[in-house]
Amino acid sequence: MKLIAVFPGSFDPITKGHESVIIRSLGLFDTIIVAVGVNSEKKYLFSLEQRIQWLKEVFSDYPQIEVDSYVGLTTDYCRSKHSTYILRGLRTSADFEFERGIGQMNKQIYSEIETVFLLALPEYNALNSSVVRDIYRNGGDISQFVPERIKI
Ligand code: ADP
Repeated sequence: MKLIAVFPGSFDPITKGHESVIIRSLGLFDTIIVAVGVNSEKKYLFSLEQRIQWLKEVFSDYPQIEVDSYVGLTTDYCRSKHSTYILRGLRTSADFEFERGIGQMNKQIYSEIETVFLLALPEYNALNSSVVRDIYRNGGDISQFVPERIKI
C-alpha cells in the first residue's frame, strides 16, 4: 500500500520551518501532499494563488511532493486522497496542546487517520508565519525566514 501523507496548513507564507518538516519526512512516505486549507472566515495576507505558486516552486525538485488546496474538513480531504496520515510540526508545548486536540478529534471522525509529528529543528523553533507576516507588513526583510526560492 502506498503511504500518502497530507501536510495541511495556511502557508501564509511558507517558512523554512514548514519546508524543513516536509523535506525531513520524505523518507517516511511515498507521497506528501502539501495542502493549503481554505477557511472562508480567515483573512490571509497572501492570495491562495500566490501561496500555491510558492509551494510549487519550493518543492519542484521533489516528484514525491504534490501541492493542492482544499475547502472543508481536513479528514474529508484526506479520505478523498486515500491518505491515512496527517503530517504536522511541533515547536513548543503550546503547539503540542493545540495539535493534540485537533489530532484526537480527527481520529474520532476518521478512525484510520494517524497524525505524525516531527519536532521543529531548534533553529526554526521561534519561526512562525504570523511573525513573518508582521515583519513583511512593516517593511522588514523576510528573506532569511522563507525558503531560498521565494523572492518576496
Ligand atoms: P496553520 O495553518 O494551522 O495556521 P501553519 O501554517 O502556521 O498552521 O503551520 C502548519 C504546520 O506547520 C503546523 O503543524 C505547525 O506546527 C508547523 N510549523 C509551523 N512553523 C514551523 C516551524 N518553524 N518548524 C516546524 N514546524 C512548523
